[in-house]
Amino acid sequence: MSTNPPIHSGADAAQIASTCAQLNITTTEFAELQRRATAAKATAYCRYSRFRVGATLLCADDAGETVYVPGANVENASYPVGTCAERVAFGTAVTSGIRNFRAIAVATDISPPASPCGMCRQFIREFCSLQTPVIMFDKNSDYVVMTIEQLLPMSFGPEALPPPGASGY
Ligand SMILES: [Zn+2]
Repeated sequence: MSTNPPIHSGADAAQIASTCAQLNITTTEFAELQRRATAAKATAYCRYSRFRVGATLLCADDAGETVYVPGANVENASYPVGTCAERVAFGTAVTSGIRNFRAIAVATDISPPASPCGMCRQFIREFCSLQTPVIMFDKNSDYVVMTIEQLLPMSFGPEALPPPGASGY
């Protein structure tokens, strides 16, 4: 049996401070993740579902500088071709050379908070440690935090495969 994690109030400064300490991010970084993920919803191309999703990745670049990378869902007339906000953000980050992801934020217009779909969980798993937190904000900025490992238990990842270019396969 599994239980869902608690939903925290986005107006509870003490709770947010506690969350940040747990996730090893600053309260400024948390506020930026919330603000940017929420703002990214406005860039969604979601004419079919009208379900806006914004994402923002808290990253470190090669020099160790903090970088925020946004994304939003991009739908398509051929429905399955559409792409989620999380994969748009990770595609942007990865093709920018970023490999250090500290936290992932996702924001929607519903409540309770929505979680990344199964395909995105696997996509994210490729690039992040299992302990990377995913902060899911609802329409009121209340939030839930889960790690990649919690979202995708017993996951399959790059280390399960032989090194790229290995012979004998
Ligand atoms: Zn998805």
